[in-house]
Parts: sequence; C-alpha cells; structure tokens
Amino acid sequence: MKLWKTRSLAGAAAAVSFFLVSGCAAVSSEPMTYTDTLFDSVISLQIYDSRDQDILEGCRELCQKYDVMFSRTNEESEISRINNAQGNPVEVSPDTATLVKKGLYYGKLSGGAFDITIGSVSRLWDFKSEDPAPPDPAAIAAALTHVDYKKVVVEGNTVTLQDPAAALDLGAVAKGYIADRLKDYLEGEGVRHALINLGGNVLAVGDKPDGSSFNIGIQKPFDESGIPLTSVRIDDKSIVTSGTYQRFFERDGSLYHHILDPASGYPCNNGLASVSIITDSSLTADALSTTCFVLGPEKGMSLVNQLENVEAVFVDTDSQITYSNNFQK
Ligand code: ADP
Ligand code: MG
Repeated sequence: MKLWKTRSLAGAAAAVSFFLVSGCAAVSSEPMTYTDTLFDSVISLQIYDSRDQDILEGCRELCQKYDVMFSRTNEESEISRINNAQGNPVEVSPDTATLVKKGLYYGKLSGGAFDITIGSVSRLWDFKSEDPAPPDPAAIAAALTHVDYKKVVVEGNTVTLQDPAAALDLGAVAKGYIADRLKDYLEGEGVRHALINLGGNVLAVGDKPDGSSFNIGIQKPFDESGIPLTSVRIDDKSIVTSGTYQRFFERDGSLYHHILDPASGYPCNNGLASVSIITDSSLTADALSTTCFVLGPEKGMSLVNQLENVEAVFVDTDSQITYSNNFQK
C-alpha cells in the first residue's frame, strides 16, 4: 500500500483554480492564448485586444529566455553558473543581478525568513520523485550551515557567493519578475487588456475589454473541484499565491511541501495553507507571498499591514480566511 502521495507540478498548477467571470456578456471575442509548461509550472497568457501572433511569439521567446536564465536545475542557467563558481565572482545579465538584489532585499526585510540561499537545502527535497521521502536529517543540518543571504554580494552585474558551498534558489521570486517583464513587453506592443498566469502568479494588464475586473479564484487547500474558496477582483494588479498544496508529498501521515523554514530546513508548519498577496508588481507579490508564508499567520499579516498598497488573503489549514486590514471585499 502506498503511504505517500505526490502531485506532478503540471497537475498541481492546473488544479489551482483560476476562473474568469465575465462581468457582462459584451466581451466580443475569445482571447488570443499562449499556454506552455515552463518554470516548473503550467503557464497561460490571454490577450483580449490583439490578434497579432507575433506578440504571442514575443511572449514565448521571453518566457523561454527567462526559463533558462533563472533555473536552479538547468546546468546552463546563470543561477547554475553562480552556484558552480566555487565562490568566484560571476558576471551575469542585468536581469539576474536585479533579481538577486531583490531577493536579498526580502531576506533583510524578513530577518532571514525569506532566504534565496535556501538552494543548498531545497535541492535535497525532491517533490517529483516516484517515491518521495524527506531527506536525511544530517544532510539537512549540513546544508543549513550554507544558508545565509548576507554572504551574497552583488556589485553591478557581478554576483559572488562568499560561501563557496552556498547555492541560490530564485524559485520564490522568478515568476513574479518574469510576469512583470511580460507585462512591460505587452504594454510596449500596445496591449491594454491581458491576463498573465504563471502557475500561481497572476498579473493583469489593465482590465477586461468590457471594463469589468478579472476575477481570480483562491483554491480551497487540496480541493480539486475547481470551485474556489473565495475570489479576488483585480485590475492592472497582480495576485500571487504560495501554498502547501502546490508542490508536496505525503509520507507516513505527514505532509511535506516546498516552502521551507530556513531555521530548520523543513517545510513550514505554522497553520497556514496559503498566502495570497495583491499588489501592483508581481515580483513584490511573489516575494511577499513566500515571505509571509514563512513568517507565519501573525508576523506575516503584521508585515502586510505595515506596507502601502499591499493586501493579503491568508488561508489556514482549516480553510479559514483572514484578510489584511484594508482589503476591499
Ligand atoms: P511557487 O514556486 O510554487 O510559485 P513560491 O513563490 O512560494 O511558490 O516559492 C516557493 C519556492 O521558493 C520553493 O519551491 C523554493 O524554490 C523556494 N523557497 C522555499 N523556501 C524558501 C524560503 N524560505 N525563502 C526563499 N525561497 C524559498
Ligand atoms: Mg513567491
């Protein structure tokens, strides 16, 4: 008998219930759509006010470029070049340097709850295995000694890991950054109505052509019915969800998921099932959704309530919802 259960990434992302509700029947045509499996996620892009296939092709090229650039597992990626450099300085693209700097900023903001040097630990956790199991505790303890965002130096476009055994993992911020770049590109091409969904990272370009908002569902934890627990209306904003049910396995009655506590090297077990952040920038929303998840229900919500123009929906393991102070229901 199998005592564990795992979820393929594609399946997990597809199961996240994002639904679109048309505010009125006047939407004239179906959107032009690009779907793909990149960034370990199912992604989709819907453009409502253009029929220009070259724009979709431009989006595809951007996604593929960033998929290679930021991957922790692709040996050709800029992240792998940094991780394999034995502590030597590595010249990278402005995109990578910017993203690493942003990651370090959230490390500082969260006092290390968010840490892009989690790579030495996250590579021990295999959520895709046929027979997944938690790593050897001694290996986790050894890997944890190399988690410290303060030992990463970015000067111009040069990144140095002062601890040669450290490893960057930009999984918590990359999709947000990429969504923002896709939006810049689409706006540059004159698109005013589009929805970018990079598996849990949703970013709206404007509103729908009929002037209504995009309605984005938040999944009930582990529910695959497609019926959302609640939903959030967004115009020109991003909503990003980090949840236990996106990448996980169960073993011997315990749930192991992909959001790791840098204090222990194990998945955060703080009563939260998901954190959704709503704000203008998808990078900010992505970084904060992971950060607040690790900080936990109290400290995470307190951080959101201190930030301007950032709202949140926290869902606990009993599917109870908590909203940030200024959330407009
Ligand atoms: P997803 O990648 O499913 O969209 P998140 O944005 O929440 O979800 O990012 C989770 C990913 O971030 C993990 O898969 C791992 O790569 C990385 N990560 C895990 N724990 C941390 C942490 N404490 N700080 C920074 N990054 C983390
Ligand atoms: Mg994130």
